[in-house]
This record gives sequence, C-alpha cells and structure tokens, in this order.
Amino acid sequence: MGNFNIQSWLRPNIRDLKPYSSARDEFSGEALVFLDANENPYENGLNRYPDPGHTVLRNTVSSLYKLDSRNFFFGNGSDEAIDLLIRASCTAEVDSVLSISPSYGMYGVCAAIQGVRLDKVLLNDDFSLSAEKILAVINKKHKLIFLCSPNNPTGNLLDQSEIEKILNAFEGVVVVDEAYIEFSNSNGLLELIAQYPNLVLLRTFSKAWGLAGVRCGMAIAQFDIIAVLMKIKYPYNLNTLTQKQVLETLGNRALIDQELSRILEGREYLMKSLNSMADIQKVYPSEANFILIKIERADIVYEKLIAEGIVVRIRNTQDLCQGCLRISVGTEKENQVLIAALKKILS
Ligand SMILES: *Cc1c(COP(=O)(O)O)cnc(C)c1O
Repeated sequence: MGNFNIQSWLRPNIRDLKPYSSARDEFSGEALVFLDANENPYENGLNRYPDPGHTVLRNTVSSLYKLDSRNFFFGNGSDEAIDLLIRASCTAEVDSVLSISPSYGMYGVCAAIQGVRLDKVLLNDDFSLSAEKILAVINKKHKLIFLCSPNNPTGNLLDQSEIEKILNAFEGVVVVDEAYIEFSNSNGLLELIAQYPNLVLLRTFSKAWGLAGVRCGMAIAQFDIIAVLMKIKYPYNLNTLTQKQVLETLGNRALIDQELSRILEGREYLMKSLNSMADIQKVYPSEANFILIKIERADIVYEKLIAEGIVVRIRNTQDLCQGCLRISVGTEKENQVLIAALKKILS
C-alpha cells in the first residue's frame, strides 16, 4: 500500500487503451431476437457467444467469498491472470518483477514472454518468507512481487505478517498465489483485500476443485485492478462450457469437500509412510496436496519410479531443492502403490 497509484503502475498504453467492444458488451439484456453477433442462429446450446463479463460466475463467487462481484476476475486458468498482470504493468526491457525462490515457474515464463526481468529472492532455509530480504532488493522498476502460499514446490504457508510488511512498503502490486489454499489450515488473505489496494490473490479451479481440464482461475483484488484485467483480456476468454462447468461444481461443494478430506487423509498417510523410511533425508511439512522430499540420488530414484510406472516431479535444480522430489497426493490406491515402489527401490 506504500503509495500505490494504479495510474502510474499501469503501462501508459494500457492506461489509455480503449478495449474491444463486443456485441455482448454493447447489449447484454434480454431480447426476442439477437441479430447482432453474426452467430449461427440454430440452437445447439453453444451457437451463441459466451458472456464476456462472467456475470453469473462473479455473482456466485461473490456470495461464496463474501466480497463484491467486482472484486473477481475470471481467467483461462490463473496463469492468464499472471500474464495479464505483467502485461498491464511492465514495459518490456524497462520494468521488472520479483518472485520468491523456489516457487512456481510461470511467473518467470510470463515475464520472459513480455521481455521483463524476473529477480528472485531466496526463501529462508526453512522455506519461510523474509520481508526484509525482499525489501532490500526492490527498486522503482519492480512492478510486481509474486508470492505463493502455500508455496509450490515447498508446500508451506507464508507468514501473513511478513506479507503485510511487503504490502505496506512496496509501491507496486503484491500477488499472493493461493492455488493450494484449500488444502491448508488457513482461509488465505481474502480479508485483506479491503485493506490493501495493491494486493492481488490468485485462486484456481485446477487443484482442490478438480477442474484442471476446464482451465479456470481467478484474481481477487480491489475494483480498479480487476477492471484493468477485464479491459485487457480476450473478450471471450472463458468459453461457455467452462463457465457452465465451474458453476455446476461451485454448486456441488459437498462432493469437493469429501474429496478434499480424502486428499488430506492421503497426505497424512504419505507423510507417515515417507517419514518412516530411513533413506529419505527429509520430508517437508505440507499445507498443499503434494509433499516435497529430500533424498540421496534423487535423479536415480526418479528414474526407478518411472520404471515402476510412477511419475513424480523432480525439483532437483530449483533453489534450495537439491535432491528433492515433489510428490502429489493421489488416490488411496495410488498412494499405496507409490509407497510400495519406494520401499522396493530403497531396499
Ligand atoms: C497449479 C498452479 C496454478 C494453477 O494454474 P491454472 O492456470 O489455474 O491451472 C497456479 N499457481 C500455482 C503456484 C500452481 O502450482
């Protein structure tokens, strides 16, 4: 909030951009006959363009998360929001962004596509966040700071008071990627949205909600940042099938909650089993649906798991993750198969 001014945060050409005005933007009410969008008129359920304003979805999550519908942006995965935030604010070859490390790879990829440097600041050795380390390196060219909580691939929640120190001191936008928040003991930082004009939360339907295939994620922030994302997205970034499916899933939370508790039980089972294996040097605590382990000759273990038909993620080359594998929590059966294979490989 340190003097955040959205007008100076935006790239000048985005500030001045007049967005494409679609047929559905210009008329969104009820009508007897729609002859304005050059669609095929014969009904098949998908012959009409989708709602570019995502009205029903935004209203639905607004009551679910107790915020205004104008606090929500829906994207083609939360990856779209990452990309748009960088493109909205960063001039190529001039501005830069910052992220914690190790963390999610898309921050760097989207920055590189826009021609923007990503500076990485190491987490502490226990993967906790140090506001001091970050504030020591930020400068006027930094437009965004990417934090991830629970962090991928380390699995830990970041400390809220450290995040708030950054929010208070930084003049750009702090993005807190909460892709895994549903697996944690925390409700995340939703209650800080009203307080900090420079906070953006990312949520996704790809993990706990079980919809990685539909490609849908959200940015949550104060109205003016959300309005910018709405202005620069593709007009029809969420297709009709995606909007329908997400709505249906939002209406079926009992099933999601049930799956969530099975995944958390699976995480406990894996934690116990992995911790009991002497050859595993470290099993990091997890508030997500994956577990990071440190193991001697991780690359060989990785290959041997593949030979057993089991694919995990090797995170060996990421900062602070030497010798680390990241294992997603699977079904009860899959978790047992993994543990049996690891026992065989390590014996
Ligand atoms: C999986 C993941 C996402 C999800 O991205 P989508 O584009 O919504 O599928 C976002 N952030 C992190 C850190 C992730 O691990």
